[in-house]
Amino acid sequence: MTNLRAAPPNDDPLVLGATLRPPKTAELLADQIRQRIVSGDLRLGTALPSETELMKQFTVARPTVREAMRLLEADGLISVRRGASARVTSPDPVLAARLTGFVLQMGGTTFDDVFRTRLLIEPACARHLAGHSTTAAIAALEGALDVEVMGDAAEGDPFGVPFHDVIIEMCGSNTLTVICSMLRHITYAQAAIATDVDRQDPARRASHIAAAHGAHERLYLAVKSGDEHEAERIWRSHLQQLAVVLVDQLGALEVGAVLAAYRP
Ligand SMILES: [Zn+2]
Repeated sequence: MTNLRAAPPNDDPLVLGATLRPPKTAELLADQIRQRIVSGDLRLGTALPSETELMKQFTVARPTVREAMRLLEADGLISVRRGASARVTSPDPVLAARLTGFVLQMGGTTFDDVFRTRLLIEPACARHLAGHSTTAAIAALEGALDVEVMGDAAEGDPFGVPFHDVIIEMCGSNTLTVICSMLRHITYAQAAIATDVDRQDPARRASHIAAAHGAHERLYLAVKSGDEHEAERIWRSHLQQLAVVLVDQLGALEVGAVLAAYRP
């Protein structure tokens, strides 16, 4: 461990970093407004004061106000339209998903890694839902099942991803919903690619659709009857069967390479 006090006095000075830059006024201004938005003090849809008014209120120049607005816009916290006041908006989950995708891509994350994470999360959600089922949750699961039944088998989603989304959303945890929504784009890309593979073999595709729908129906019944153990077992088994299709074919692919080729 370096002992700074023991260093000889005439040595070259120890360089610990570059010159510190004080925060720009625009960043400080953006910080203040950002805090008012995320604390709920400024509600969704609220129009911010005009540029001129903000200049007066904060005693800053117009370019400073404009830069602060650009920073808040980049955060997804306001929308700015030409000729109108900026309005408070909610950050777009798609933006968060894109950023998450970039982070995973740069880390060389594979589909297998993403799928193993789903395998940890989803059976626990299924169990929780069965233990705390509400009329709203049962109705939402029913709705997702109806969509699967009505869907055109030739064009439908064989892996019923929306049904999986409902299970997570109905757990009632906003934190979980946001985290999973960041992975959703990747999950859909994986299902879409597997669907393309399936299309080359209609019999195989039909059997995948039937198996997925059957598992979804069984989960729905387990949730409705409040059977936590059965719900978790059904969902783990369903995901393990999906893994045979999704992970065995695509698991080693890097998320980045596939997302670059996939356009929803
Ligand atoms: Zn499924």
